[in-house]
Amino acid sequence: MAGSYDDRDGKIWLDGNLVEWRDAKVHILTHALHYASSVFEGERAYGGKIFKSVEHSQRLLKSGELLDMPIPYTVEQIEEAKYAALKANNLSDAYVRAVAWRGAGEDMGVASARNPVRMAVAVWEWGAYYGDAKMKGAKLDIAKWKRPSPETIPTAAKAAGLYMICTMSKHAAEAKGCSDAMFMDYRGYVAEATGANVFFVKDGEVHTPLADAFLNGITRQTIIAMLRDKGITVHERHIMPEEMEGFEQCWLTGTAAEVTPVGQIGDYTFEVGALTRDVAESYEKLVRA
Ligand code: PMP
Repeated sequence: MAGSYDDRDGKIWLDGNLVEWRDAKVHILTHALHYASSVFEGERAYGGKIFKSVEHSQRLLKSGELLDMPIPYTVEQIEEAKYAALKANNLSDAYVRAVAWRGAGEDMGVASARNPVRMAVAVWEWGAYYGDAKMKGAKLDIAKWKRPSPETIPTAAKAAGLYMICTMSKHAAEAKGCSDAMFMDYRGYVAEATGANVFFVKDGEVHTPLADAFLNGITRQTIIAMLRDKGITVHERHIMPEEMEGFEQCWLTGTAAEVTPVGQIGDYTFEVGALTRDVAESYEKLVRA
């Protein structure tokens, strides 16, 4: 399947029904299109099973709550919707995109309480997010934008509005031949990439930014638990950019990125070392276990 995402065969789950892929449309006066009243999830199914599916459904509901946009479905109903979409498209290894938004309604100003909260689930085949980098080590630019303070926007939500600077930073990175961009946060600490969390290795121990101003990824939490199970010390802490000079290895984690080794961030370089490879392999096994 290729080409434009709105012109494909298949079914999309939309507000409780499976509809033809090309008919899964919204009106131009959809509130979300104007004011970013939208939250979403990115998930992956492996061998017919969505990895950490319930956690993703819970996070979707939480993101809706954080945006004062209560999603009118339960975790169980969201689970059913996701599996119905997989089945209707005959996919067992797929990316799963659940999205909820304020639709068109009586409100067309900033307020949106009178507009319905709608939901859709689309699924499609999606291979390695960073292509070749998966093996060789991705090259990352440093974003000119900063992850914002939790006092300025609900940073724990997986909300569309938080991605505006991600898209801009990723465009700038790709124009320089990089796969992605690394963000610092509003205090100057190393934060995350545009769609993935980051880990570093030094002297056999792992360091990862404290998730107090960005999305605490489900993959991130999975990898921290896995490392601790392996008896490896993990420091979740504030990391200054200059510290990257002393880090030996680096990888990104995310549903789409899975575990992707990083070879370079700005002028800092890293080797694709044994621990990075071990974690990537262990994650591959875990998602299919
Ligand atoms: N940060 C951002 C900005 C993301 O978009 C993602 C991907 N959802 C992540 C981190 C990683 O989250 P997860 O492991 O839950 O996919």
